[in-house]
Amino acid sequence: MSLLPCRLPATNTNALFHSFLHRSAPPRPSFLLYFGNLRRLVLLWWFGGKKWGWVGVVSFRSRFLMVIKVDLDLFSGMGNKKKEGGDERNTVLVPESVKIVNVYSMNPIATKVAVIGAGISGAVCASNLAKNGISVTVFESARGPGGRTSRRREIGEDGRELYFDHGAPCFTTTNTDVEEMVRVWEARGLVAEWKQNFGSFDFITKEFVNFEKEGLNKKYVGIPGMNSMCRTLCHEPGIESKFGVTVGSLEWLENKDLWSLKDKDGHDLGQFNGVVASDKSTFSRRFTQVTGKPPPLDLNLIPGLADIIKDVPVRPCFALMLAFENPVFGFSFENSEVLSWAFCESSKPGRSTSSERWVLHSTEQYAEGIISQAGLQKPSNAALTEIAEELFQEFQRTGLDISLPFFKKAHRWGSAFPVTSIARNEKCIWDGQKKLAICGDFCVSPNVEGAILSGFTAASIFDETVSRL
Ligand SMILES: Cc1cc2nc3c(=O)[nH]c(=O)nc-3n(C[C@H](O)[C@H](O)[C@H](O)COP(=O)(O)OP(=O)(O)OC[C@H]3O[C@@H](n4cnc5c(N)ncnc54)[C@H](O)[C@@H]3O)c2cc1C
Repeated sequence: MSLLPCRLPATNTNALFHSFLHRSAPPRPSFLLYFGNLRRLVLLWWFGGKKWGWVGVVSFRSRFLMVIKVDLDLFSGMGNKKKEGGDERNTVLVPESVKIVNVYSMNPIATKVAVIGAGISGAVCASNLAKNGISVTVFESARGPGGRTSRRREIGEDGRELYFDHGAPCFTTTNTDVEEMVRVWEARGLVAEWKQNFGSFDFITKEFVNFEKEGLNKKYVGIPGMNSMCRTLCHEPGIESKFGVTVGSLEWLENKDLWSLKDKDGHDLGQFNGVVASDKSTFSRRFTQVTGKPPPLDLNLIPGLADIIKDVPVRPCFALMLAFENPVFGFSFENSEVLSWAFCESSKPGRSTSSERWVLHSTEQYAEGIISQAGLQKPSNAALTEIAEELFQEFQRTGLDISLPFFKKAHRWGSAFPVTSIARNEKCIWDGQKKLAICGDFCVSPNVEGAILSGFTAASIFDETVSRL
């Protein structure tokens, strides 16, 4: 266990010290006091000399050691003062000043954890690890955080800046832990409720239906974009975020009990006590189908878990981003083979209303059909333009008054939604010996809430393990 100097707010340390001193009359030399249970144990001790003494406070839970040097001259004359009407036992010590010698962090050799992926599960996990004193490095392939809760910046032909939540448009909550986190994010201005009428548009009857059903749960959006939660969490103290860095390989160094990470070109990314892999592509066969390379994590390293995680089937989706000059209507779809949802981007709180922007989602069948012909490789711009036209034509077939957009662009989400949940009860996959956590929506449920819960659980398990070291 190494002791690293760190800072605690002076108010905390002074408050602790004063409460200690006020417990009794002048502290007797060399005594030990403890309270709390094993994990939350706090030790107080006193080593007295003639002129001075040392007070130490250890909290294993908060992982700090505080050493305070007290000048005994401060007590002379004060210790014998009796409170009016009181006796010797009521003597209260109030030293005029206390010199704090040092406060040490007891974090065991500053545990370093690498989090692969800055989607919502990775970001929540990183933030909770860092809160518990773990040093976290986040590696993200994309240029910024968000993953499937990303925000896309586009420039219209006239130079206008256009922003789209082209992945998850919003999210709902049912789990109390997630609700608590969302309340904190709401108070910090990171999310807000999206108060709109939600319904479905039936392609057969050409009518809007199910207003009640769709509007039942509170819908939350990130402010000013869906990536706001990830962006903020990935920049919290104790976290170093590296964007545009794809982890290409994870090697377990048996003799050192450490993971060694390299990027996709074989450059060293450092050694870590633990790893959190928040994307199934880190270990899935699909990674090889897309890149022609083996996935970063060799499942032979975790034979006990390999069977659970080796295959996570996914459902694809195309997203169409549209911007109109004039307002049109908005809805989700029933009985369409091409479109599943339409979200009016500019009706979300905190968004610019200088243009009317929409994101349309294709059906899974439509996306599967395209991918089965074109393959998993990145689609060309020409192919995306054709898809954008097909999705828009279906939008027009609603027969509603839809003007021509001045911006239209399609995006493919090859693995938009996992089909299975591989750790519904456990909420993440954990190898305690190698300190490897696997988290993400594919562990719990195919949505933002499932991803938050999975990342949060992975961080809690790490914390439990580290505090036992
Ligand atoms: C079109 C669409 C619509 C959706 N609609 C909704 C909705 O209405 N409500 C809802 O709740 N959810 C919705 N979702 C689902 C939701 O977005 C996801 O469940 C959630 O965002 C998943 O978060 P995650 O952290 O598990 O994974 P991700 O967000 O996928 O994060 C994984 C991250 O890991 C990174 N990564 C992968 N491999 C590496 C590597 N080797 N090195 C470095 N980085 C790597 C990826 O770039 C990615 O950023 C939707 C998703 C899509 C695509």
